[in-house]
Amino acid sequence: MKVIVTAGPTREPLDPVRYLSNRSSGKMGYAIAVAARESKHQVVLISGPTTLPAPDHVEMVRVTSADEMFEAVHAHVPDCDLLVMCAAVCDYKPAQFSSSKRPKMRERFSLELLPTRDILLSLTSRPSNCFVVGFAAETQELEANAERKLHEKNCDLLIANDVGREGVGMEAEENEVTIFFRDGTYQKLLRAKKSELARDLMKIILNAREKRLTKKT
Ligand code: C5P
Repeated sequence: MKVIVTAGPTREPLDPVRYLSNRSSGKMGYAIAVAARESKHQVVLISGPTTLPAPDHVEMVRVTSADEMFEAVHAHVPDCDLLVMCAAVCDYKPAQFSSSKRPKMRERFSLELLPTRDILLSLTSRPSNCFVVGFAAETQELEANAERKLHEKNCDLLIANDVGREGVGMEAEENEVTIFFRDGTYQKLLRAKKSELARDLMKIILNAREKRLTKKT
């Protein structure tokens, strides 16, 4: 089975030295890639810039921007059985890239931003057996936002975490998540190391995928 995991942040360049990004460390996505590999699957890890070492026996695809991540996911999705979109893809990018460093502004100024392309939304012609898992990092109304994203982004399952809480979520060693399923049910996984949580998540994901496949036949 071929598993694609996306991880880390993206960087949206403004000029050769500046970019917009977010606090994602990539730890959760890398842990999921390791857990998928432990389950003996072929794993492609599409990673934004992180300081983490490449996991063993995993094909690394390194990208920088949301556009590059978009292209990499589309290149790998045609023969993919499971896609886990753990990356914190930037929602906006500077409308213009300056090939030389922009001069420092002494006064207040505005920056024009454009929305990036939504990778999950763009996967309309993915293979029917490709099970898709989305992630949502929320600071408020976690349940309502997660339910909405599960359906809007056409995911088979969505994993949500409250990034506003101390000690869990982005950058942290630990996480605590709620998994939302298409049948309206959800399951909470209590706070644990990301590596442990990733193993439990992988079991739940593989189980849900199996169930969906048997339903289809
Ligand atoms: O940023 P948002 O909360 O919408 O992210 C939810 C899910 O959508 C995540 O799985 C993320 O990887 C994915 N996403 C995407 N393309 C974007 C932004 C987010 O696929 N441009």
